[in-house]
Amino acid sequence: MQSTLKQLAQQDCDLLIVGGGINGAGIARDAVGRGLRVILCEQHDLAQHTSSASTKLIHGGLRYLEYFEFKLVRKSLQEREVLLRAAPHIMWPLRFVMPHDAGQRPAWVIRAGLFLYDHLAHREFLPASEGVSLRKHVAGVPLKGNYRKGFVYSDGWVDDARLVVLNALDASEHGAKILTRTKCMEVRQQGQGWRATLDSEQYGRIEVSARAIVNAAGPWTAQFANAASGAKNTHGLRLIKGSHIIVPCLFDHPYAYIFQNPDKRIIFAIPYQDDFTLIGTTDLEYTGDPGQVKISDDEVGYLCQMANRYFIKQIAAGDVVWSYSGVRPLLDDSALNASAVTRDYLLECDENNPPFLNVWGGKITTYRKLAEEALAMLLPRLGLHAPEWTSTAPLPGGDLQQAGALVASYDFERFSTEFCTRYSWLPKKIAQRYARCYGSRASRMLGTAQKISDLGEELAPGIYEQEARYLFAVEWARSAEDILWRRTKCGLYCQPQQVARLQEWLMTQQ
Ligand SMILES: Cc1cc2nc3c(=O)[nH]c(=O)nc-3n(C[C@H](O)[C@H](O)[C@H](O)COP(=O)(O)OP(=O)(O)OC[C@H]3O[C@@H](n4cnc5c(N)ncnc54)[C@H](O)[C@@H]3O)c2cc1C
Repeated sequence: MQSTLKQLAQQDCDLLIVGGGINGAGIARDAVGRGLRVILCEQHDLAQHTSSASTKLIHGGLRYLEYFEFKLVRKSLQEREVLLRAAPHIMWPLRFVMPHDAGQRPAWVIRAGLFLYDHLAHREFLPASEGVSLRKHVAGVPLKGNYRKGFVYSDGWVDDARLVVLNALDASEHGAKILTRTKCMEVRQQGQGWRATLDSEQYGRIEVSARAIVNAAGPWTAQFANAASGAKNTHGLRLIKGSHIIVPCLFDHPYAYIFQNPDKRIIFAIPYQDDFTLIGTTDLEYTGDPGQVKISDDEVGYLCQMANRYFIKQIAAGDVVWSYSGVRPLLDDSALNASAVTRDYLLECDENNPPFLNVWGGKITTYRKLAEEALAMLLPRLGLHAPEWTSTAPLPGGDLQQAGALVASYDFERFSTEFCTRYSWLPKKIAQRYARCYGSRASRMLGTAQKISDLGEELAPGIYEQEARYLFAVEWARSAEDILWRRTKCGLYCQPQQVARLQEWLMTQQ
């Protein structure tokens, strides 16, 4: 501990990244893989804020076509298959059903939109869109009788919080220092670079000298840029709150739904964690503390009402088993309403000082591309050159090799079946979850265990000591919340006394 403390008290690096959401973690991974010395600091847990509160779609954003955001949609669509290949355990293709009736956008407009969506970028394994009769299609069964026709199209699903952790893990395995629960307090210019003061929960004060800074503070980007750098920002953020509710399954097939509503907004209803349906999202201007964002009763009511317009099974606030809210840090483009604000990002690097790069806006879907663009701006300023590498590299656990080739995500089922057979002593549901969470690393997580008692105490439903120890040692998990809501979603099945037991156990590891 003493030597770690000494080592950490003074640090030198090429790049200090502030923020451990998807953008910070993605830039850290890309940069360290190109040979830069990287430190990432995150004031709380990895993905504790916006990057665990998304709708979890790897998508082009069908509705952005209405705002003529063709460039953004194309870029996002191009990323879908790149990402799905990199981590087929935590991302997979999803078919979306859009029920249609006379009160909505005319069918020809939707058909034209879907045609564009299918053709704006190359697709290798995601199927094209099609019209369907909801009287015959399985997705019609849980819907009210007035929805007879619909459209089906493809996008992707991602476990957003795990995507962040896997990027941080890959960065760390390439040599980056990932400091969680470490806030960047101050940054000042020093010679040709920067000097930053970090405050770490574990190690106290750390001084870092960095040749360049990346401000990937999500909803705190403007605040951090103003306070820390003193440099002038030419851009700002619109903070838009979005909330989701989780209810027991409203349907038992693998399709997701996209509903068009009278207020012109769209709502998704997505199969979630086997036993649940995820419904979201809202879009509301937000002026509070991004760290304290919570769903309101009005939002719960709105989401239930929108779902009730479509499903036979009606829901109310009492059915909600969990909810989450996040703040979208959107690039302020002066749009009149929250849904119309651009979802594209902008990277801004001050030309006059040592490099200080601000990340404005973005989506989970475009994080890898954003990281490449950030490096394209930073490398010349640092007098370095190194080629792009992340588009074909698997994320940890994503290298599900078959006959020497990376498998596409629809082959994941084969890997999962083989894993369950190999570990037949594990309850099937738990084995399937391990395959999903850890992919090819699931065996590493299990170590030498050969029977269930080798996994130690079951600290919370489905969480044995073996897994908790791995998450603590390898994935920076420090609290019960980190494990139950971000590294896994086992929190959905937990009672308060089980949360307390897990927390108590974690205290003995620190
Ligand atoms: C409701 C909702 C639905 C969405 N749905 C989708 C979707 O389906 N698909 C999609 O592609 N995108 C979606 N998004 C967008 C996506 O989630 C965000 O663009 C993305 O997560 C932003 O990541 P980030 O890294 O910029 O921010 P964050 O994840 O918020 O990370 C920033 C981090 O910086 C840290 N930080 C701040 N200040 C400091 C400091 N001084 N020192 C150290 N750390 C600091 C914070 O603690 C935070 O963890 C959605 C967003 C929302 C809110």
